[in-house]
Amino acid sequence: MPASFAAPRTLPELLTELDGEATILAGGMTIMPLLNRGIGRAGKIVSLSGIPALRGIARSGDSVRFGAMATHSEIASDPIVAEHVPILATAAAGIGDVQVRNRGTIGGVAAYGNAGADYVTALTALGARVVVASRRGSREVAFDRFVLGLRRTDLARDEVIVAVEVPSTSGGRTAFERYFRVQGAAPTITAAAVLMPDRGRLAVGGATPTPVIVELGREFDLAATLDAVDEACAGRPFGDAHNPAPYRRAMARNFAARVLRHAREEQPC
Ligand SMILES: Cc1cc2nc3c(=O)[nH]c(=O)nc-3n(C[C@H](O)[C@H](O)[C@H](O)COP(=O)(O)OP(=O)(O)OC[C@H]3O[C@@H](n4cnc5c(N)ncnc54)[C@H](O)[C@@H]3O)c2cc1C
Repeated sequence: MPASFAAPRTLPELLTELDGEATILAGGMTIMPLLNRGIGRAGKIVSLSGIPALRGIARSGDSVRFGAMATHSEIASDPIVAEHVPILATAAAGIGDVQVRNRGTIGGVAAYGNAGADYVTALTALGARVVVASRRGSREVAFDRFVLGLRRTDLARDEVIVAVEVPSTSGGRTAFERYFRVQGAAPTITAAAVLMPDRGRLAVGGATPTPVIVELGREFDLAATLDAVDEACAGRPFGDAHNPAPYRRAMARNFAARVLRHAREEQPC
C-alpha cells in the first residue's frame, strides 16, 4: 500500500508534488506489476491521469508533439501520426495486447528506458526529443542521449516527461519491424530505418543495452551497414537465458537488413 496518493489536475500542481521521493504513475502497465511484487518505492504515488496538458497529439512546426500520456492505442490510430510518422503508428499497433495499448503511454515507455522496447528503437531512428519538466524548469533532450543504458535514463527523480517531439518523415522513406517469440510479450529485437532526402538513420534495439545507431548517407552500402551493426552488437553484448547475446546479435543483423531493404523499396510516405 502506498503511504500517499496524489492526482494533480495541472502541470504546476504536479511539479509541486514531485519532491524527488514520489513515484509517477502513468498507464501503470509496467510500474504496477513491479510494485505488486514489492520492487520499487511505493511511498508516494503521483498519478498523471487527471492532467489534460499531458494528453493529445498535435502538429508542432515540422514535428509531431505527443503528450506524455498519449496511449499506444491513440498513437496507432491517429491520422496525424499516420501521415507524418507512420512507423510510430506501426510500432504502437504491435505493442503488447489491447489492455496494454489502451493504458500504456509513450511517456511511460520513454521513462522506463527499456532498450528493446518498440518506441525506444523507433524514436531513436526518428531523432525524437524528450521534453522534461521539474520545479527547477524545463529542458529538451535528444532521445538518443536520453536512454543511457538498460532501464537507465537521463531523468532525475524530481522530473517528469511532459512530451515527446518527433520530426515529420513526410517526403522520406521509413520502415519498422519487430521480432518477438511470444505474441503479446515484449519484443526480442526491434529495428527502424528512416531515409530522408538529406539524412538517414538506422536503429536496432534488443541486442545491446541501448539501441545501435548507424547514420546513413543518401547512398549507403547495405553490407557495410550490416557489418557496422554486427560490430556494435559484438562490442556491447546483451542477452538473457531465453535470447542469449549471440542469438540477438544474429537477429539484429537480420532485422536491420529487413528494414533497410523495406525502406529503400517503398514509395515515399
Ligand atoms: C503484458 C505486457 C506486454 C508488453 N509488451 C510490450 C511490447 O510489446 N513492446 C513495448 O515496447 N512495451 C511493452 N510493454 C510495456 C508497455 O509499453 C508499457 O505501457 C510501458 O512500458 C509503460 O508505460 P505506462 O504508461 O504503463 O507506464 P507506467 O507503468 O505507469 O510507468 C513506467 C515507469 O515510467 C515512469 N513514468 C511513467 N510516465 C512518466 C512520465 N511522464 N515522466 C516520468 N516518469 C514516468 C514511472 O514512474 C515508472 O517508473 C508491455 C507491458 C506489458 C504489461
